Amino acid sequence: MTVNSESSTSTAESTSNVDANEIAKFEALASRWWDPTSEFKPLHDINPLRLDFIDQRVGLAGKKALDVGCGGGLLSEAMARKGADVTGIDMGDAPLAVAKLHLRESNLHVDYRKVQAEVLAEEAPGTFDVVTCLEMLEHVPDPSVVVAACARLVKPGGSVFFSTINRNAKSFLFAIVGAEYILNLLPRGTHEYEKLIKPSELDTWGRAAGLSLKEMTGMHYNPFSKVYRLGPGVGVNYLMWTHRDISTTDD
Ligand code: SAH
Repeated sequence: MTVNSESSTSTAESTSNVDANEIAKFEALASRWWDPTSEFKPLHDINPLRLDFIDQRVGLAGKKALDVGCGGGLLSEAMARKGADVTGIDMGDAPLAVAKLHLRESNLHVDYRKVQAEVLAEEAPGTFDVVTCLEMLEHVPDPSVVVAACARLVKPGGSVFFSTINRNAKSFLFAIVGAEYILNLLPRGTHEYEKLIKPSELDTWGRAAGLSLKEMTGMHYNPFSKVYRLGPGVGVNYLMWTHRDISTTDD
């Protein structure tokens, strides 16, 4: 794997809202990002479901989209394939290098950048029609800051989508014990219980930043059929659609 020279700086340091240990987890696995049988299988499996959820609500064709914590680019590319003009940002060098390399295979265009959402929000407030931040908040020291940055980055009236894992006894059992220790769907240590986020917490951070909750759905895995589906019940994995209130300003 060739690491792009402009983004080959070390990620060992923890900046204000980036946890170097969390970034390192994804750096170590990045070369296998596009292998649908790898540690990233769950992301491959849920990708069409979440893409449709987003596309059905915003109509991605022709929209300016930002994918925050894009990793190797599964969702970024899928949104670009739907006709969106996509920017993908992440703080991991290796995932970004993999994402850039994969564009050569897919012949799609995505603008990948190593920048924190908070920093981009200073640079380009109110720029995007759609912001997605999926499976990322539970890896960040202060997720409320990322939520606020997403709110600032989207245009008034635009949509922000978040997905993460709920924090309760059931999610501990399913998302950590089940997925990491019994079914081996994810490497052990991928998720830490204390960092999981209740929908009410996410909604509170969103509302404080001018985002109104439009819809929420669960993401469910059936270990017997090995099939994922979206549907009611947000006890474990969930996906949230929010709207930026028209009245909020870019300050
Ligand atoms: N959103 C993608 C990838 C999820 S994996 C998807 O759902 O397919 C989590 C990603 O978040 C990793 O690529 C990791 O590098 C990134 N990440 C973790 N902490 C981050 C931070 N503080 N800022 C930006 N990206 C971060």
